[in-house]
Amino acid sequence: MILYLVIPCYNEEEVLKQTASALKKKMTSLIKDKKISKKSRVMFVDDGSKDKTWEIIAELHAQDELFVGVKLSGNRGHQFALLAGLMSAKDCSDATISMDADLQDDVNVIDKMLEDYQNGSEIVYGVRSSRRKDTFFKRTTAQMFYKLMQAMGVNIVYNHADCRLMSKRALKELENFKEVNLFLRGLVPLIGFKSSIAYYERGKRVAGESKYPLKKMLAFAADGITSFSIKPLRLILSLGIIILVISIFIMLYALIVKILGHTVAGWTFLTISIWFIGGLQMISIGIIGEYIGKIYNETKRRPRYIIETELK
Ligand code: UDP
Ligand code: MG
Repeated sequence: MILYLVIPCYNEEEVLKQTASALKKKMTSLIKDKKISKKSRVMFVDDGSKDKTWEIIAELHAQDELFVGVKLSGNRGHQFALLAGLMSAKDCSDATISMDADLQDDVNVIDKMLEDYQNGSEIVYGVRSSRRKDTFFKRTTAQMFYKLMQAMGVNIVYNHADCRLMSKRALKELENFKEVNLFLRGLVPLIGFKSSIAYYERGKRVAGESKYPLKKMLAFAADGITSFSIKPLRLILSLGIIILVISIFIMLYALIVKILGHTVAGWTFLTISIWFIGGLQMISIGIIGEYIGKIYNETKRRPRYIIETELK
């Protein structure tokens, strides 16, 4: 069974060598135990790094055939780097496992994933059993992210990020999802097939710093919701109904005030209403605009990534 580890890297020069040696150790022992074939590889995907990441990957490749590399033509983001790696690994492997370059995902989860694969799972989701080693901020924001997704009706596996095993078959199906707004966490469960969960404890970043600041995380959450859920659209409808009901009461109130002859006093109320409804309309239009933006992007069918060089 040929296994490819797919590791997206963006400006990871500080941690890459350490990661490579840890992964090499794991892979060598798996090969020795005959759990995976000698043709298995560790594939680094350079997501348009601005530092020495690609030089390090090339150096690793020159030293050891275990390491292969793919370089994207520019920074496309984690999701696209991952997809690029998975798609180029798919044809030469039986299964892939994706992991972060910073070793936050415990390498020992690979054993459990392989076991599940042998038992027929096409997809094995790596789930963080604890986040004790994450900073308080990362932990709470990340947990809010999963809760929000669930509230919005996006079917994702709780506390599962992008550490997962996918079989060749699952990858072939993933290839058929042509959408440009890529949110793998939401897409992969849509593939179906037999799947399972492998728990691991999420560690600290070994070196370097997080490439996911709050701003990127919020954008990621917004992208996930608008790519997978029409709940925000339904909320507009609900809001509309509520406002309609309220407006009946307002009408009654306004009529009573008029009959009593205090019309000028109603002016304050009217002004407030106009502003209030104006605000609501703006929000609603904003949400619709978000979806129109998605349709716009989807219809363009742009290539999702462009590979500049490949070391194989
Ligand atoms: N990454 C990437 N492209 C980007 C940002 C991040 O390929 O534009 C990679 C990064 O090198 C790492 C993984 O995505 O392997 C996860 O990033 P990070 O560890 O910084 O995120 P965190 O664990 O803090 O959420
Ligand atoms: Mg990380």
